[in-house]
Amino acid sequence: MQHVTLNNGLTMPQLGFGVWQVSDDEARSAVATALETGYRSIDTARIYDNEKGTGRALAESGVAREELFVTTKLWNDDQGYDRALKAFDASLERLGLDYVDLYLIHWPAPGQDAYVDTWKALERIHAEGRAKSIGVSNFTEKTLDRLVSEADVLPVLNQIELHPYFSQGAMRAANDRHGVLTEAWSPLGQGKGLLEDPELTALGEKHGKSAAQVVLRWHLQLGNVVIPKSVTPSRIRENFDVFDFELSAEDMDRVGSLDRGGRIGPDPDTMG
Ligand code: NAD
Repeated sequence: MQHVTLNNGLTMPQLGFGVWQVSDDEARSAVATALETGYRSIDTARIYDNEKGTGRALAESGVAREELFVTTKLWNDDQGYDRALKAFDASLERLGLDYVDLYLIHWPAPGQDAYVDTWKALERIHAEGRAKSIGVSNFTEKTLDRLVSEADVLPVLNQIELHPYFSQGAMRAANDRHGVLTEAWSPLGQGKGLLEDPELTALGEKHGKSAAQVVLRWHLQLGNVVIPKSVTPSRIRENFDVFDFELSAEDMDRVGSLDRGGRIGPDPDTMG
């Protein structure tokens, strides 16, 4: 497993496992399969409603806590200093943990104009050692610039929608300028049309790999942290089997040329 170093000196696995749209029960079995496969980083959120199932799988796995990297996120209706502190306590309790490795603001929700106050709460949680790292998700250049200008602790990463059809060159550059890592959500484009793209299937054939594995390799070589989701054990294993081949510079360009500049998910300027 490859690790990346965060701007606070800590490390995290570059490839993790996401559990959006997975029920609490399913999360328990999918996370168990992921941990057996070798994943050590798990990405959940309050709004996924599966922190309990995720936490049970972590506890039942027998994997030492210090080997795990657990991320959860603060939902939009928990923004604001006091609410954020309470929301964090509740997430920690559902997970059955006494700290998380990473706590994220899920969306900037600029209409609420509360993300700076929320960040102050995350800084306190971080200072207390209950979140080893803190970060953001779905922050735009504008909201990230403002947060960084008012923050005492820099976000370690910005988790954003990113896949070959929406490769986010400008936002990746903005994250880089701040020393903030880019983490890709929906890295497989939610599996929809992307994985049938002829360019990706052709690259898969060239390397003896699937289109999904080519896409994950592209992310890893770009330097993204990546958190694919599946509840199908064979796919969970397939998505982890991406460390034995390499895309050439030309292959990388071919994947990069697929960008269509359009999101699958919500617009961060209006969400929340
Ligand atoms: P994804 O891009 O990981 O795609 C998952 C889907 O792709 C699966 O449901 C399945 O249909 C298909 N798939 C997975 N592996 C496959 C394979 N090997 N072959 C063929 N099809 C395959 O989508 P996602 O779940 O949206 O994103 C991953 C994770 O990112 C989430 O689980 C969540 O943790 C995180 N996320 C965060 C946000 C946010 O706002 N921060 C938003 C969405 C997702």
